[in-house]
Amino acid sequence: MEKLLNELSTECCPAYSLDSDIEINPQVPESLKRNLSLDLPNISENDLLRHFTNLSRKNYALSTTFYPLGSCTMKYNPLVNERIAKFDNFAKLHPYQDSKTVQGVLEVMYNLEKDLCEISGMDCFSLQQAAGAHGEFSSLLIIAKYFKSIKQKRAKIIVPDSAHGTNPASAALAGFDIVPLKSESDGSILPEKLKEILTPEIAAIMLTVPNTLGTFEKNIPEISKIVHGNGSLLYYDGANLNAVMGVVKPGDMGFDIMHINLHKTFSTPHGGGGPGSGPIGVKAFLEPFLPLPRIESKGNEFILNYEKQESIGKLKAFFGNFPVILKAYVYIKSLGAKGLKNVSEQAVLNANYMLSRFKDKINVPAGGRCMHEFVLAPKKLFKNAVRTLDVAKRLLDYGYYAPTVYFPLIVEEAIMIEPTETESKKTLDAFVDTLIKIILEEASLEPQKLKDAPVNTFVGRLNEVEAARNPILKWK
Ligand SMILES: *Cc1c(COP(=O)(O)O)cnc(C)c1O
Repeated sequence: MEKLLNELSTECCPAYSLDSDIEINPQVPESLKRNLSLDLPNISENDLLRHFTNLSRKNYALSTTFYPLGSCTMKYNPLVNERIAKFDNFAKLHPYQDSKTVQGVLEVMYNLEKDLCEISGMDCFSLQQAAGAHGEFSSLLIIAKYFKSIKQKRAKIIVPDSAHGTNPASAALAGFDIVPLKSESDGSILPEKLKEILTPEIAAIMLTVPNTLGTFEKNIPEISKIVHGNGSLLYYDGANLNAVMGVVKPGDMGFDIMHINLHKTFSTPHGGGGPGSGPIGVKAFLEPFLPLPRIESKGNEFILNYEKQESIGKLKAFFGNFPVILKAYVYIKSLGAKGLKNVSEQAVLNANYMLSRFKDKINVPAGGRCMHEFVLAPKKLFKNAVRTLDVAKRLLDYGYYAPTVYFPLIVEEAIMIEPTETESKKTLDAFVDTLIKIILEEASLEPQKLKDAPVNTFVGRLNEVEAARNPILKWK
């Protein structure tokens, strides 16, 4: 940052003043005194303000436009929640404070754990995890420890190809071997196929519900019966909870362990790489393995319990991303049970409305109904070497953030759209019209427009590998 401001700095015009009468503490030794003047940038307040305002306008943000990024739930998050998270009484706490001085904070966390139990049907929650994938990883450590405690050797995890990509990665990191399972065209699992690969070595199966094609798994009761009959556990990837809140509970469906993304569903945006929070929920028999510390209520005091013999231990510094936890708590309390259900119903309605407008024109591998998101497969419509990437870049020219592309991997040239509940019909219609125009008209009639896109953005098409490996971070 300092370097960047130095580029704007002009020698001629001092733009700051320092008090020259500062008294130097006589105890500062000679050797520590500065003998060169401070290298501070010279920029007037006006120019500085313009610099940052202009930078912010080059950014794409939810506060300016629609953000249909599939699998990310980029919805509007009430600003009042941000304000509450910024209150001094929360923001200026220190994690080493005596727990007696932060009773209110512990109460918020304790209550949020209870609320997440209610929403999910699980018995206990832990709020430590910093992301969804972190939640998966800690859950898999718990699964491993559970089987160790009952002296069973189970080193394999089944992951359907319609699960989120973090699932196999987390399982591998936790030391398991992955057994892949091919899903049907709508991403669902055939119980007969599952039976074929179920062996005594299988510790668990990880289901993403709704799956990455945006459909609800139809066969959960049967899958649950088969998996538990084998002595294995059932894991629920609940990052997509925005589709099912207040409608169904993973705990009621037979799942033993799960994670929820507080970012995405509960008032923290997912984009931009953090901060996040991926709490995990378990059925009572897995409670002893939850990470430490556990927040407990004793008499009329909340305490941090570090004394649990079977726990997988500590996973993160301190207690979790508290501002994200706090925003989730405020969101849940302000919406209430009915409000949360309404969120999911509207999210699913918005997605189905968009899908209904696309489905006669663009191939939809999972069929004509979806949950909170859906995947288009426009490949057959493409001529002139046009690809999904070109469509995504062209959308930028129309002022839209591009949807998720090339994910899930099971659909070639995929475009994955998640409108969320907070967008109006007008916004959804305008986006659908634009995408149809690009795919059905421009791609055939003016393919060069797609190849050259984007032309209306501050930078043109980037070499994405180069941009990630050797980013140029100067402002000019
Ligand atoms: C986003 C997501 C994850 C991973 O969450 P992170 O916080 O990005 O680690 C896992 N599963 C599904 C279904 C997701 O959508």
